[in-house]
Amino acid sequence: MNSDNALVIAISSRALFDLERENRIFENEGLEVYADFQKDNESSILEPGPAFPLVEAFLKLNDKLDEHLIEIVIMSQNNPQTGMRVMNSIDYYNLGITRAAFSGGQPLGAFLTAYNVDLLLSKNSQDVQDAVDNSIAAAQLYSPPENFNPEADEIRIAFDGDAVLFSDEAEIIYKQQGLDAFIEHEKIFAKQPLPEGPFGRVLKTLSRIKSRADGGIIRIALITARDRLTHERVVLTLRSWGVTVDEAYFLGGLPKKEILKAFNAHIFFDDQDKHTGPASEIVPSARVPYKRDSELHENNTK
Ligand SMILES: [Mg+2]
Repeated sequence: MNSDNALVIAISSRALFDLERENRIFENEGLEVYADFQKDNESSILEPGPAFPLVEAFLKLNDKLDEHLIEIVIMSQNNPQTGMRVMNSIDYYNLGITRAAFSGGQPLGAFLTAYNVDLLLSKNSQDVQDAVDNSIAAAQLYSPPENFNPEADEIRIAFDGDAVLFSDEAEIIYKQQGLDAFIEHEKIFAKQPLPEGPFGRVLKTLSRIKSRADGGIIRIALITARDRLTHERVVLTLRSWGVTVDEAYFLGGLPKKEILKAFNAHIFFDDQDKHTGPASEIVPSARVPYKRDSELHENNTK
């Protein structure tokens, strides 16, 4: 049964399965050749894509709790015909996904609200940007790491702080005025909670699910480039939201890759390619783009 408090995650078919070769056929040779290819290979099972370990782990959690605390919707710009191979692969892996949308080439943005989507994970930058612009949490996945071996009994999710869990307010000061001004600003406003960022609600929902699931099953880490001098505002912000994270790393500029290796995240969310790029070689990673009207958008559209 579906819980009212469920986290609804839309996964694109290219995030769930490795469809890179097929996507190249579509982009280089057009819809007709692509459709023929998918039809000829309908019974050839697709390999897992970057979001597969996370989806599999969440569906296992639903089974364990006998409740759909996480609702997965597969969303694709395929049409129902070309989508058959995806459906067959979902059956093959025995993934308990009950909802699907095949939009036949239409951008997915308009359907996210219809399916009550809280989070979109996709490889399509346009779909992700559209979702973000409509204030729906969304992230663009990188290709999956080789030899990723997720924890079997625990779902591990790692979030960046500024411009992901928190708003981009502090990030803008850092970018425009430098590190010293940022530290000074964060000390002055240490007692004032940071505004919620694009993934703030996702964290709150996951936190509720964690408490329903008796802790233990989902482990959440905050991995931020902030240093210890600015940690107070972060901790007080999370406290004011009524959420706790299991682990927090204030790296003061150190690379995030090694921490992620140690934490072994099922997925890592960050707004900056300089963090998600290297991290994606180790754990499945996704970049959270800025809204088009954000002052940060121009600087990091990659
Ligand atoms: Mg950030």
